[in-house]
This record gives sequence, structure tokens and C-alpha cells, in this order.
Amino acid sequence: SVSIVLFTSDLRVHDHPPLRAALRASSEVVPLFVRDTGIASAGYAAPNREAFLADCLGDLDTALRACGGRLVVRSGDVADAVAGVAAETGADAVHMAGGVSAYAQRREERLRNVLEGQGRRLVVHDSVVTAVAPGAVTPASSDHFAVFTPYFRHWSEQRLRDVLAAPRAIRVPDGVATEGTPSRARVSGTSPGLAAGGERAGRKQLTAWLRRGVAGYEDGHDDLPGDATSRLSPHLHFGTLSPVELVHRARGAGGPGADAFVRQLAWRDFHHQVLAARPAAAAHDYRTRHDRWRSERAAARDIEAWREGRTGYPVIDAAMRQLSHEGWMHNRGRLLTASFLTKTLYVDWRVGARHFLDLLVDGDIANNQLNWQWMAGTGTDSRPNRVLNPVTQAKRYDPDGAYVRRWVPELAGLAGAAVHEPWKQPGPERAKYAYPDPIVELAEGLERFRRARGLD
Ligand code: FAD
Repeated sequence: SVSIVLFTSDLRVHDHPPLRAALRASSEVVPLFVRDTGIASAGYAAPNREAFLADCLGDLDTALRACGGRLVVRSGDVADAVAGVAAETGADAVHMAGGVSAYAQRREERLRNVLEGQGRRLVVHDSVVTAVAPGAVTPASSDHFAVFTPYFRHWSEQRLRDVLAAPRAIRVPDGVATEGTPSRARVSGTSPGLAAGGERAGRKQLTAWLRRGVAGYEDGHDDLPGDATSRLSPHLHFGTLSPVELVHRARGAGGPGADAFVRQLAWRDFHHQVLAARPAAAAHDYRTRHDRWRSERAAARDIEAWREGRTGYPVIDAAMRQLSHEGWMHNRGRLLTASFLTKTLYVDWRVGARHFLDLLVDGDIANNQLNWQWMAGTGTDSRPNRVLNPVTQAKRYDPDGAYVRRWVPELAGLAGAAVHEPWKQPGPERAKYAYPDPIVELAEGLERFRRARGLD
């Protein structure tokens, strides 16, 4: 018999339950990736992710070829494409990973309908895209956890499945046409410092991280210049690394750094289970604060300055420039820039989330939209009205100013923490730096926000 494995956000051969199940069930397997036109027309395709994806598909094809198989790539509507390959090969089942977004949920439903209409089965596997499946742990009174701490307690008590080895041999039926894997070089408009994708790169990075990085994670994860986080987020987004395997291996490494790292992996699962239960939260307030955000037109100049990294607040500008240069930003930078846009500038979180999704190589509906909502105070944060002060935070997390000097070279001549407040330089000194004055006074922004939220 023939089975199809439909790859989506799980572009790997290690620890892959759908692949394992298909190989158990059938003598021949079609590893299939559909370049889904639905994703592009939903406005979700972005050059950085397209380029990283190209790496991932090339690498997946190589890994499959090493065990006698290959990757079949098709373009088009995902349900039509899968149904087409199923009809061509006479497959009796399609195996895939469960997804969480509204799009993924609709895709699954459409695939089920189309395939069942043809007398075939769709088998959806859990714990592929997340370590713990959304809905696997729930509080007594709801279909999902809205608070992280109790979620984490239950999450930690879950027994994770064992890690699955990569397959040794795959037989693909003869004659299945493929478009071939796309090339990264063909994608234009990518960030110059974009990381390389693919499972091999991800596994190497993970091994190095567990050997040398994770032990310092608890103390170092907020250190902006130290850059001491794993940078595994794009690999988790594209599934070139398995979250189940990551949790097992980090626990195996042990120690406070590994514990803190596993806790962050649980945050990822947390946001996924919120989105799975409330897919509308990708576009609508999870909890409304009755915000009447400044209109995009009225705030156009502020939004532009924020996007381009010339707000006059060095740490904000450094982080925004890191984003455009690398397609990635440090978590502390994400928190600061999101607080600045939504609270200090009082601009709708969707404007910021959109910009992040346009650039982030790890841009992810669950993590991005729900972290934006967290920072905007419309999400699951229990302190929805806190505003992060970019100067105080910069002095704490970039005490010597090295992060700012790395990304804002105009200010490279300012030593130490003075770089965080260039406006304090005496007139003639200040004039030496081709760097803008702050676009808003922090006190003014804070007051506008507090008034808008009815806090005064
Ligand atoms: P590490 O610190 O090494 O953490 C390990 C992994 O844990 C990460 O790779 C990630 O998968 C997960 N993780 C860590 N923090 C979080 C978190 N707060 N929420 C969910 N998962 C987390 N993360 C994305 O993967 N995609 C996004 O689109 C995204 N958008 C964000 C937008 C905003 C406004 C904020 C505040 C955070 C966002 N994050 C997003 C979460 C976090 O910033 C990144 O996951 C992290 O910076 C990635 O770097 P790392 O892999 O070195 O993380």
C-alpha cells in the first residue's frame, strides 16, 4: 500500500511521528510538501521565511535521498494538490501533524473532507509541532489555560512520548512528479544577516547550544549584547527541530540553565494552546481593554520611525535595526519595541505584529500575535497596563551600551551607558551625532496611554 506524509511545520526526518506511522503502515511512502498558494494569498509569505524554507526543503530532500527516498514538491491549493497526489499514487492514507492556527484548522478540515470523499483517511498526529498537544491539559473550567503558571505545572507533569529515530529506508512509488525544491538564491528582499535553514543546521546548532550555551541561559537570557539565547526559534517554527526532542535533551543536560530553557519551550506550547482554542486571537483582542488606538494615519510618522529604527531611543532603534538586518530580534528587544509601539506611541498591536511577521524568520502566528497581545495588555498578561521604560531597561540589560553601539553606529562614539541617553550630551557634543531627537517624551506617552486606558 501507499501512504502520503504531508509535511507542513515539521520539516525534518528525526522524531517525526507522521513519517514513522506511514512507514509502519505502508510499503511505499510519498513525502510531500505543498507550496500552498493559500498561505501566500493570506499575506503570510515573507522573503526571510521563504529563503529559510528553501534551505529546509533542500535539506529535507537530501536527508530523504540518503535513505532511498526523495521529497515531492507541488504548488497550488493544498487540498487539491494532496488529493491529486493521492489519486495518482492510489494512496490510502495521508499522515500529517496537527496545527493550531485558524488556517491550519481549516486546512485539516478541508483535507479530511476531500480525502474521505475519495475513500481515503487523514491521520493527524499530535506532539509534532508542540511538545504537549494543545488541549492535552486543560483547567477544570475552560478549554485552555489563560495563565501560564498553572499551565506550566500541568505541562511539566505530562509524560512526553519517546524520541523517534530518523528512518533508515524509504521507498517512494515510481514516477511521482515533483517541481523540485526551491532555491534560496532565487528569493529577493531577504535580510543580509539571515541565518541558514535546514534540519542539519538546526541539529548542529542544538548540539552546540546544549554543550556550551544552555548552562548560562538562566543568567544570560536577558543580556542584550551577550546574545546568549539559543536562536533556535526559526528551527522550531519550521519544525526542523522537534520540540519533544528539545525538551528531552535539555532535561538530559540538566541544571538551572536547562530548566529555564525548558520553561521557555513551555511558553511556546502555552501560546499554541491559547491560539488553538481561540484562533480569532490572531486578529482580535483576546481580552478587550476597549482601546481606541491612534489611527494609522494620525500616527504614520511615529510608525515609520519605529519601523526604521529612528525613534531617538537608542535601544528601540538598535532592536528594530537588528530585526531588519537579521530577520530576528532578541526577546528583550521584542518586549521593549512592542511596549514602545503599543503603549508609549499608543499604536494598535496589529500594526506592530504585521511588521514583525513581514521580517521575522521565526514569524509565527501563535507566538507573534499572542506575545504582541501580551505586551499590549490585551492578551494573557496579568499586568496589562505596565509600560517598559526603554532607558531604564536599556541600562539594566545593556549596561555598557555595547548592544546599542553594535546596531546604531552613529552613536558609536558615546562610551558606556551614556549611549542610552544621547540627548543628555551638551549641545556641541550632541550635534556631532547624526541621530534623531526622541519622537516623543516618555512621560507624555505614558500619560496618553494612562488616559486612554482610564487609569488616571
Ligand atoms: P530562547 O530564549 O533560546 O528560547 C527557546 C525557545 O523557546 C524559542 O526558540 C521559542 O521557541 C520559545 N520561546 C521563548 N520565549 C518565548 C515566548 N515569549 N513565547 C513563545 N515562545 C517562546 N517567538 C517566535 O518563535 N515567533 C514569533 O513570531 C515571536 N514573536 C514575538 C513577538 C513579541 C512582541 C515578543 C515579545 C516575543 C515574540 N516571540 C516570538 C517570542 C520570543 O521573543 C522568541 O521566541 C525568542 O526571542 C527566540 O529566540 P531564541 O530562539 O534565542 O529563544
